[in-house]
Amino acid sequence: MIEPDPVIVCVDCGGNCYPLGWFPGDGPLEVGTVLPYRCKDCLDRWDIVIGGEDDDGGDGSGDRPSFSD
Ligand SMILES: [Zn+2]
Repeated sequence: MIEPDPVIVCVDCGGNCYPLGWFPGDGPLEVGTVLPYRCKDCLDRWDIVIGGEDDDGGDGSGDRPSFSD
């Protein structure tokens, strides 16, 4: 169970997007739940998969050498 972000940033316009049908007091959601967000500025809708973000970058392809000389 993961607590969704109460606000995310719209990748289109940089405005704030708020979840539809979920409020911070509602508590965490199950991983894999699709939570729609609506941008307050451009009114775009974003379907966010809970726990599906790859912020950690733990994809197994992250060890690139820093020194070449
Ligand atoms: Zn927007």
